[in-house]
Amino acid sequence: MAKTWLTIIGLEIHAELKTASKMFCHCPADHFGRPANSQTCPVCLGLPGALPFANRQAIAWTIKTGLALDCQVNTVAKFDRKNYFYPDLPKGYQISQYDQPFCQHGQLDGIRLRRVHLEEDTAKMVHQPGQTLVDFNRAGVPLMEIVTEPDSRNGQQAKAFLKHLQQIIRHLKVSDCDMEKGSMRLEVNISLSRNPVNQLRVTSDELPKYKVEIKNLNSFRFVERAINYEITRQTALLRSGRQPRQETRGWDTKKQQTYSQRSKEEAHDYRYFPEPDLPPLKISRRQINLIKKQLPELPAGQQQRFQQQGLTEYQARVLVSHPQKAQYFEKVMLTIKNKIKINLAANLIINNKINFQKTSPRQLVAQITQKQPPPLGASRLQLIIKQILDKHPKAAADYRQGKAGAIKFLVGQVMSQSRGRANPDQTRQAIKSLLDK
Ligand SMILES: [Zn+2]
Repeated sequence: MAKTWLTIIGLEIHAELKTASKMFCHCPADHFGRPANSQTCPVCLGLPGALPFANRQAIAWTIKTGLALDCQVNTVAKFDRKNYFYPDLPKGYQISQYDQPFCQHGQLDGIRLRRVHLEEDTAKMVHQPGQTLVDFNRAGVPLMEIVTEPDSRNGQQAKAFLKHLQQIIRHLKVSDCDMEKGSMRLEVNISLSRNPVNQLRVTSDELPKYKVEIKNLNSFRFVERAINYEITRQTALLRSGRQPRQETRGWDTKKQQTYSQRSKEEAHDYRYFPEPDLPPLKISRRQINLIKKQLPELPAGQQQRFQQQGLTEYQARVLVSHPQKAQYFEKVMLTIKNKIKINLAANLIINNKINFQKTSPRQLVAQITQKQPPPLGASRLQLIIKQILDKHPKAAADYRQGKAGAIKFLVGQVMSQSRGRANPDQTRQAIKSLLDK
């Protein structure tokens, strides 16, 4: 019998916060597409003697994200220096958070979140033939890092979790989470374990002796494929009695496979120590509650509410995943309460039948109301027909004398008197049966 292994996946997500300024200086944080090195100062260039000061907005947004992810917010947090040498790091260290991050112990979709912390982004390396340039516009941009516990078990689950996380962060309006622009970056830690006691929650001493980290994945699809590739690769090694190496791997989009980059660092390699230029931060219960109060309804809650208002699970999910559509639909729902019409409106919005620029929610409601008039009661219809026949005796006489046009005229009169609520065929039949008597 073939031995089986349990896949253990941890995820690390970096999201650039869209604050106006950088994390520790006044330089603009929006760096995408700007002329190289046009948004720098002594602080983010790491010049000697320059002192950092923390961006309050970035801290508040990190806490907001943590709260949306069911995290505990630490009332004392601090920044630490993570030391390593690389050309994209002007100071020789990155200001990050080590043992006292802003948020800890959250969960999303059954996957536990270890922490949500804040750090500064590094500069951007621009590789050209024969040379590598460094653009410091990105250096010091607030970067939020979310780390999960090793609770994902396959690529599909990891992908669904990441999509939901992206949706929440976008919904909070703290980051664009645009993977093509690099404002959201994904890392996967993956290893295979033999027969843990609890398949859902693997204890730390049951974790394998190695861990493979796949860095710089810039699409959810690549995350899923890289995980599947690693499961196959690591299973083959383990079956042949070898342990996979502890290392960092990249994803080759052309070959659709991972490749070895370097052996992985341990935390002690970074010589973390408290940032002496930034005092520890005290966050009061009052401040935390204030941020909690500002939390908007989350996508999952919105979807549930849409379903309660008569939408199918599919309709609700599609609307929620397109914030512009969801917002438009909310406005439509303010004026219509009828479930059939709500459904009709949802379908028009979902199927892109509406140009948001050209048709206001009010106009859409008017359109739907015309399309689907509330049925006119039979007795009310009879009453209107009698009124019209009394008012137009000549048309009635014309009909009796065989003039075909007369009935059309009478139906038209009834339609206009009922403001379009009468059914034309029903009206024609009713007029005929009255006049044919
Ligand atoms: Zn700066």
